[in-house]
Amino acid sequence: MHTHETPAQDHDRQRPAPVARTADRHDGRGPRTPGSLQGTLGNTAVTRMITVSRMMTEDEFKQSSKRITGKRNTSEISKVDEALRAFYALPDTGEVARWYALRDIVRACEDYVSHKPEGGNRVAGVERLKGEAEGTQSEIAEAVFRGLLTEVDRMVTANEDPDMDVRAQAGEAQKASQKMSGPEFTALVDGLIRDLGELRGDERLPAETRAVIDELMAVVGLVTVKQYPRGGMPGMKLTSAADQDPAFTFNVDTQARGGSSFMLGHVAHELTHVAAHQAFGSSPVMELVRAGATDAQVTALAEERRDALARLRRTLEGGAGFSDFQQRMLEEKLGYGGESGKLKKYADSFAAAGKITPEQQAQLIAWDAAAGQASGTLVEYDTVINQMLVYLHLWETDQNHPFYVELRAAAQVAFDRRSQARAATAQAAGNNP
Ligand SMILES: [Zn+2]
Repeated sequence: MHTHETPAQDHDRQRPAPVARTADRHDGRGPRTPGSLQGTLGNTAVTRMITVSRMMTEDEFKQSSKRITGKRNTSEISKVDEALRAFYALPDTGEVARWYALRDIVRACEDYVSHKPEGGNRVAGVERLKGEAEGTQSEIAEAVFRGLLTEVDRMVTANEDPDMDVRAQAGEAQKASQKMSGPEFTALVDGLIRDLGELRGDERLPAETRAVIDELMAVVGLVTVKQYPRGGMPGMKLTSAADQDPAFTFNVDTQARGGSSFMLGHVAHELTHVAAHQAFGSSPVMELVRAGATDAQVTALAEERRDALARLRRTLEGGAGFSDFQQRMLEEKLGYGGESGKLKKYADSFAAAGKITPEQQAQLIAWDAAAGQASGTLVEYDTVINQMLVYLHLWETDQNHPFYVELRAAAQVAFDRRSQARAATAQAAGNNP
């Protein structure tokens, strides 16, 4: 129920209709070095083909789906034959191409079976092929996920728009991630967290971003579960009770719309929830407000954050220095950081689930009212700020770009606030052993 991230379907709704490819958009400020994302993240395409369990050949399939009588010329079965032939005709170009060919086989099999509601002696053979194709997809899923990230990285680097590609790489990456085993998936996420930490090895990383990543890496150990969201929304969730050591579950959003920058930005966003929760001594709602704050302090805090978001939005106007896609990603984050009514909504749903007390709920609702229209900044401000820091670094945005200058300043203020709160919380704990 509680997400702390934008739901995937919202992304879909905002997405323009796909076209084959958009023209590059260069405006003089932001031409990028090709391949920089891949270079940074070591996420280069998988060139070595994975050996997978053998799938039946076209001849074997024809044999296994043969009818006693009649010719093999109905269009549904021919489409399965064609899809299988196309799979075997693929050159050894990589797992992503194999993935799409396997997807076509599965679809052709499903179409065939749905045209034969009464069954028939070919159905068993078609079902078997479908099972083999799906099994093969599972075997290559992780390589496909990484390969799709690399492909999206290339597009972002070339100022192309991944949201507008008919191959819908982000959606396929999500499907590939669903086919990974639990341990495989957790290892992938651990790798992403490591990649985020390793950005500190880049001397061009702004000091503000470096400080944030240091802070985030210090709380990684509190995240005890990293998984594909199971029946829930992506986001970070506190799973420990009030009297236990803190533990969090990270439900990872694998719809990698912007490739590696999207994934690392997502990791930074969610770890910021953890770091802020620890610093502010928040309730399980993870409000970005220090425990014990007065309504007047919360009003001032929300106004300050609202104004910072407005300044950021102003520096984005005109879009110079960013591709259409990058601009859209930043605008989404600015919007997400300042939605109205958000804290009350979370407070009510957490209370209904018995995860906060009625007193906590009342406190959060009072703070929501104190923040007015800027309630969302009490839940999602530090998070989107840090997420955008990661985007800009990986996009190699000019550090003198007015948006970047403004963002670094906002990030520093938010960082200092968390640091002061953390010190005060530690001191209070020391005074009351
Ligand atoms: Zn969030």
